[in-house]
Amino acid sequence: MVEIKLRKGKEKAVLQRHPWVFSGALEKIMGTPENGDVVKVINASNEFLAYGYFNNQSRVAVRLLEWDETKVINEDWYAQKINAAIALRAHLLSNKETNAYRLIFSEADFLPGLIVDKYADFLSVQILSTGIETVKGTIIDILSKVLKPKGIFDRSDATARTHEGITAENGLLWGEAPAEFIAVKENGITYHINIAEGQKSGFYCDQRDNRRILAEYAKGKSVLDCFSYSGGFSLNAFKNGATMVTSVDSSALAIETLKQNLVLNKFNKNEHIEIQSDVNKQLRIFKEEGKKFDIVILDPPKYAPSRSAVDRAARAYKDLNRLALMLLENGGLLATFSCSGAVDIETFKQIIAWAALDAGKEVQVIKQFSQPEDHPVRLSFPEGEYLKGLLLRVL
Ligand code: SAH
Repeated sequence: MVEIKLRKGKEKAVLQRHPWVFSGALEKIMGTPENGDVVKVINASNEFLAYGYFNNQSRVAVRLLEWDETKVINEDWYAQKINAAIALRAHLLSNKETNAYRLIFSEADFLPGLIVDKYADFLSVQILSTGIETVKGTIIDILSKVLKPKGIFDRSDATARTHEGITAENGLLWGEAPAEFIAVKENGITYHINIAEGQKSGFYCDQRDNRRILAEYAKGKSVLDCFSYSGGFSLNAFKNGATMVTSVDSSALAIETLKQNLVLNKFNKNEHIEIQSDVNKQLRIFKEEGKKFDIVILDPPKYAPSRSAVDRAARAYKDLNRLALMLLENGGLLATFSCSGAVDIETFKQIIAWAALDAGKEVQVIKQFSQPEDHPVRLSFPEGEYLKGLLLRVL
């Protein structure tokens, strides 16, 4: 196995179990590893630190997997990690109300670059590192044997792959191809998911808990669900007795799926308006019309893909939240989210404070949202914490 020596002092993060070694930390590569090979990382005194996947195309030159020198990274090791991830989610697997969740969450489950989502009888897989790509066959074999799904579908079309120097993939990996729309359940609500063409891996199961929590406030209220996708927040609000729900999303497939989901759950279509439009534009129209809502939800896509994009993202979040706050009367609620890992909760609060000031509204935080337990955060890897949100009341 090729050994990679770190520069003196650069072993600190590895000792703290951070799973990324940046290219600038490398002193010497003893050999010529292929991208995706498992290498041994050693310190300046030649002592073992960890095993990881090498990649000279990426800013993260080694993605660490294992800190125990006696372990061998072979098929048994992968089976053990996959089984451990599934075992940690055992109570979710037995939940009769939900059959859509994340089984493997990359670094959080010691499999950097592997994401596996379970949607009823199908698995949707994202392979975002060259290391996992190299052992794809082994992983698929283990997943098929352990979980016995009907089919495993590849949704490795995220931009993260380009940073690793590998091309996008989308297609059937194993078993039977899913139908264009398959039905899943979450919080007792049925959703259609298009595994092949839906966003991300098909569904945003990271908002499961937040949808349920927010719905508790929806009884008898008018709700505006911005960036609705297939209606996660909208449908939970309906289930809990919202009187009127308006959903806005710019994607035709999102709106089409949302309409199917309203029918599947037998919600009254007269109490729902779906608008295929740009949210910023639509919020301005509502403002001009003098329209008000009791609850506004903002769940935009990732505005800051990296740290360098935070300033620009902050301006976009601020403007969006300012517009949303203007549609609320005193006592109204704003649920506002950010899924940008680079924007931490304190920064996000600051941005929303500026938005409130600009909107001329006094607000109080009544709840803080985060990501659910199937998207756990290792404290040694704070970058894994990406989803955050605030529930605000306008005073
Ligand atoms: N709230 C959703 C997930 C939102 S993901 C849920 O619970 O499932 C972000 C959504 O924003 C996507 O559906 C995407 O189509 C939509 N989107 C992105 N930019 C947009 C824009 N400018 N205006 C409206 N929708 C947008």
